[in-house]
Amino acid sequence: MSFAKLKLHPTLLENISSLGYTTPTPIQEQAIPVIIQGKDLLGIAKTGSGKTVSYVAPIINHLIGGKQAKKSRQPKVLVLVPSRELAIQVVEVFKELSLKSPIPVKSMAVYGGVSINPQMKGLFGVDILVATPGRLLDLQSSAAIDLSKVSTLVLDEADKMLNLGFHKEMEEIFDLLPKKRQNLLFSATLSDQLSGINRVLLLDPVVVKVEDKV
Ligand code: ADP
Ligand code: MG
Repeated sequence: MSFAKLKLHPTLLENISSLGYTTPTPIQEQAIPVIIQGKDLLGIAKTGSGKTVSYVAPIINHLIGGKQAKKSRQPKVLVLVPSRELAIQVVEVFKELSLKSPIPVKSMAVYGGVSINPQMKGLFGVDILVATPGRLLDLQSSAAIDLSKVSTLVLDEADKMLNLGFHKEMEEIFDLLPKKRQNLLFSATLSDQLSGINRVLLLDPVVVKVEDKV
């Protein structure tokens, strides 16, 4: 199995191969076609199994094949993560996979613990926003960001976000998004708490669960 078999945009394939990746991991092989079809997805696979590229690749595939958008404060993709460290890691993967692109794709991470002003300024022209829930709500209440055009929502490490007590903030954010959108939820484990949020969030999802080899 190669990335080329996943019918990805040729420029994206170049970016993937620049990273030295030759073969998709099992979660990537199963999740990428489902996400390209526009379906909601629940992806469960252990830490280190390559979940990031399993949503970053199809999202970039969609954006670089589209038209250049007018510069605004209206991201099309929102990725919620539990920590600043993960926000920084994930935005790096978005940048690497859109390094070469027929149209410019701007990815940005926002998180708490640092001054909000540079983030407010930097949000102009953003296509993909990777955010921790608290800082995103602060930016939203200062009108630095408009979430009404988000067409894809990703929750990465959804289990950790719930364990950290972000439930209320997450619900507040969901209420700011268009009703019609694609929802992608990734987690290392499937807890009862997570099943609760799946039911409200995901519309007839495809479940991809990669079992540990024993
Ligand atoms: P997870 O989110 O499931 O914990 P990550 O997305 O952080 O996993 O990926 C774990 C590691 O695997 C990263 O260092 C990443 O660069 C690497 N990786 C991801 N996909 C591939 C691939 N197809 N081939 C080789 N390495 C990969
Ligand atoms: Mg991860």
